[in-house]
Amino acid sequence: MASNKLVEKICGYLIARKELEGGLYLDESVHAALKKLAGKWEEQMEGLEEFGRRISGCQKCALWKTRRNFVFGKGNSHAGIVFIGEAPGEEEDLQGLPFVGRAGKLLDELLANAGFTYQEIYICNILKCRPPGNRNPQPLEIAQCEPYLWRQIELVEPKIIVALGKVAANTLLKNTTAISQLKKTVYSYRGLPFFITYHPAYILRNNNYRGELEFDLKKIRGYYQTGKFTV
Ligand code: URA
Repeated sequence: MASNKLVEKICGYLIARKELEGGLYLDESVHAALKKLAGKWEEQMEGLEEFGRRISGCQKCALWKTRRNFVFGKGNSHAGIVFIGEAPGEEEDLQGLPFVGRAGKLLDELLANAGFTYQEIYICNILKCRPPGNRNPQPLEIAQCEPYLWRQIELVEPKIIVALGKVAANTLLKNTTAISQLKKTVYSYRGLPFFITYHPAYILRNNNYRGELEFDLKKIRGYYQTGKFTV
């Protein structure tokens, strides 16, 4: 049963009992169960920003001890495309926003060149806290943090997901395949078309791949607009 129907039924039952009994006397276990249900209901009803605020004090893995800020996401909360990076770097940790350092500036430039508007985009990472020294995310950190990403995607309801870079791609697809291979295929993630391309930080180190990233972004934008490949 959809949870709003269930809540309606329970409310109806409680009101009826209150009227019949001239008050409402619940034993402790029922009270506790109702409180739990109300909490779940509130979670279901919260929007993206509220969700981000609620989880921003997360201490599920050890990264909270070294983070300066929890980095949830940025962009349009109902964007058609969600870009997913790996984890916040130093500048992101300082500002509490994803992709605001050098790689982020390059990403902004490449997205604009490919024709993306700010309205079309939401950007976040797999991990919401910076791993010390920008080391790769560890399995336990991913296991704790990926469900946050799932909920972000459910709330944004994009048409397309894009992973930026090998670590993000391998983490989301649970494989170790090289990005040059992965990039050739459109996958599915959370039931949505899932594209993979290079991370802008990789282009900062290997400018030879810039053309491929530019091409991929144009291809992704074409697919986003038409549902087909146009380049
Ligand atoms: N690299 C990422 O993967 N994410 C950021 O937010 C910044 C750099």
